[in-house]
Amino acid sequence: MVGADRTEPDLHLPHHTALPGLIEAHAHLFLEGGELDPARRATYLGLHETELLARAQTRLPRLLRLGILAVRDAGDRNGVGLALQRRDLSTSRGEMPYLDSPGAALHHQGRYGSFMGEPIEALGTIKQAVAAAHALGRETMIHCSGHDGVQNCIAARVDTIEHGFFIDRDQLARLRDLDIAWVPTFAPVHFQWEQGKALGWSEPVRANLRRILDDHAARLRDAAELGVRVFAGSDAGSHGVPHGYGFFTELELMEAAGLPTLQTLRSATGASAGRLGLREDQGRLRIGARSRFLLTEAPVLEGVRHLRQPVTVVFDHAEFSGRDLASKPGL
Ligand SMILES: [Zn+2]
Repeated sequence: MVGADRTEPDLHLPHHTALPGLIEAHAHLFLEGGELDPARRATYLGLHETELLARAQTRLPRLLRLGILAVRDAGDRNGVGLALQRRDLSTSRGEMPYLDSPGAALHHQGRYGSFMGEPIEALGTIKQAVAAAHALGRETMIHCSGHDGVQNCIAARVDTIEHGFFIDRDQLARLRDLDIAWVPTFAPVHFQWEQGKALGWSEPVRANLRRILDDHAARLRDAAELGVRVFAGSDAGSHGVPHGYGFFTELELMEAAGLPTLQTLRSATGASAGRLGLREDQGRLRIGARSRFLLTEAPVLEGVRHLRQPVTVVFDHAEFSGRDLASKPGL
């Protein structure tokens, strides 16, 4: 029932918490993060794009059931993300979260990223690419790490900095002043540290990974103190970061780094809702908003780990519950 004359709510659920749908700000839907074997990962990358698309499609109903109701895809060169986004926009979309994808990513000639896009040198500079995107009313996300990389992103006025390992406190203050958001993506590096032995890393390498993660955690605390916009994004699809569950891991790592639980939840909902350039309103509960939310009996405000417990999902009036489809294989 809707209308100004209503006096009673539809439901009384005193033991439930209602949460906005979770927004995953950084995932590579064309990749399978749960595949740990490097040789099989390489083979996977060589699959035909129709097969990559079919496999990516199977992840979407599962993400929905886990409560991840919006995904910002981080791009691929085969057009998988864009094809999924077209399905999202079609009337026969099926069971899937809201999706936004940039298409192919750009990378520096001869540097990391060739598996998901084209070299930027063929087009111009980062500054020109960002200006062109802004002229079209679009936002830009840049994968970068290291002091100079972050500095280049700040100079180019990108919208979100992805990863940002080795960012310093002064740079975080610049991010705040320019309203550039930061997506710290702890999960892929944490996996390399946690499974370091099995992956064949030496003890000095593992110790270095641990130090990098500890510094990253300290910068997250700085960001919270300075008032930088922080969005939760797991880099799902990368080695050891499955879609869905990897996002929960990311939230747990952000919380463990010292971000209060409520702020961690906000980084996955309202904080990114207004700033990811999404076509539809996501991640907020308010009158007039789309009916996209979660109901849970778990004490999620006491710790983000409780997000792993079953939730009831409402997505545009349809209801989904149960985790049967959300089992690990294929994520
Ligand atoms: Zn990524």
